[in-house]
Amino acid sequence: MRVFTACLGSETNTFSPILCGRDAFEGNFYAPPGQHPDHPTLYSGPMMALRRRKREGGNWDIVEGLSTFATTGGIVTRAVYEEYRDAILDQLKAAMPVDFVALGLHGAMVADGYEDCEGDLLRRVREIVGPKVKVGAELDLHCNLTPAMVEYADVLVPYKESPHIDVLERGEELVQILADATIGKTKPVMSVFDCRMVTSSPTTREPMKSFVARMQALEGKDGVLSVSLVHCFGMNDVPDMGYKVIVVTDDRKAEGDALAKKLGHEIYRMRREIGMTFLSVEEAIDKALAAAKGPVVLADGADNSGGGAASDSTWFIRALQKRGVRDACIGPLWDPIAVKMCFAAGEGGELQLRFGAKMNANSGEPIDAKVKVTRLLKDAWQTFGEAKDPMGDTAAIEIDGIAVVLNTLRTQAFGVDLFTNLGIDPAKKRVVVVKSHNHFFAAFSKIATEVHRTTAPGPLPLDYSKVPYKRLKRPIWPLDPDPLGLD
Ligand SMILES: [Zn+2]
Repeated sequence: MRVFTACLGSETNTFSPILCGRDAFEGNFYAPPGQHPDHPTLYSGPMMALRRRKREGGNWDIVEGLSTFATTGGIVTRAVYEEYRDAILDQLKAAMPVDFVALGLHGAMVADGYEDCEGDLLRRVREIVGPKVKVGAELDLHCNLTPAMVEYADVLVPYKESPHIDVLERGEELVQILADATIGKTKPVMSVFDCRMVTSSPTTREPMKSFVARMQALEGKDGVLSVSLVHCFGMNDVPDMGYKVIVVTDDRKAEGDALAKKLGHEIYRMRREIGMTFLSVEEAIDKALAAAKGPVVLADGADNSGGGAASDSTWFIRALQKRGVRDACIGPLWDPIAVKMCFAAGEGGELQLRFGAKMNANSGEPIDAKVKVTRLLKDAWQTFGEAKDPMGDTAAIEIDGIAVVLNTLRTQAFGVDLFTNLGIDPAKKRVVVVKSHNHFFAAFSKIATEVHRTTAPGPLPLDYSKVPYKRLKRPIWPLDPDPLGLD
């Protein structure tokens, strides 16, 4: 079996000011054709599944194209998207004839001039391979499924889990379905149900956890090949954003449609239970001050760089100052210029500094204050599980009893050592504010007396009813109360 595979992805927050250019891809992950490392990456599930089959002695001829992806950011520049897309298409043309195509994509990538990059790429792939060759893609669960993606692909398999722990399993699932279809064992057809809703629902909690188990239990019988739920990326302002159910059946379109609708209605009826709740900045500080003992950890998820935010908003610092909270720390706050000034002042130095709120229109006002530089660290890092996450050159400053970690490489809070490496002990603070949505939790929950998730203005407001969508198709919950009329 001769197969072409490649990976291209970025999760586009169309409200983010962080333009996604070549550096965003090549600085994050970039492997020329055939040079993807042996360990799996976020979008290489199909490639890893194909390599495994070949390694285990199957008669596989695998042509690996380009693999590159950026972390979540703003719109991808047109030139960079077209260059990567055309490189993959040229590699596919050179590989022809192939038996099937299995791509690793995100599914919510927007480039300048391309609102649906994956639909565009799949259409061009289809033009090259013709109607008979099977084409499929593994997608991130936070994809925004469009009619073009469904039209030009035979099979789409998003991750079922959030956090995404099943990249390899879904790659296997996709490759198995494509391989079976190629030898004529099955005839996969996709059924999609649009739930007309947007929320954010981790699958580690009920009732989502059981829903994932139910989807998997339906697979492999009654002609059902694959069942998945698209969770969408709510900060991607495109017409087709929203929760959708995908059912792939073995040539049983009517049954697939009925099952997708049944599951879609189930999710819709649970829509108020599956999301997360967030406190406002003021409510969060109230909670922290009411706690008998610290540290109370407040997650500033609206300014999470992992979701495309700048990580430089000043809402929390201002609120802490206003409430006179002196025993607090906050980080990492991305401000390369301010870090440079702090390095000029030196450790122990005092300077008049303007910092924060440089990138987003709604990040608050910059802070202008006399600050003390308490620690400087070149090429700092923090721990994230087994990995070391680079933070760039870093400065710890103190302002009105609040310790702030300023950094130069935009990243979110993962490990407690983002503070301790700079001489700040968050365990001894009353309030700890982290610029992160979810990934801080494993490390910081160990030192916290309480953890609260918050929302604030910024490119990730987390409360979808307040996002100023312009392109999104209506009606959709929670902007509209009951779009499917099932209440
Ligand atoms: Zn995702």
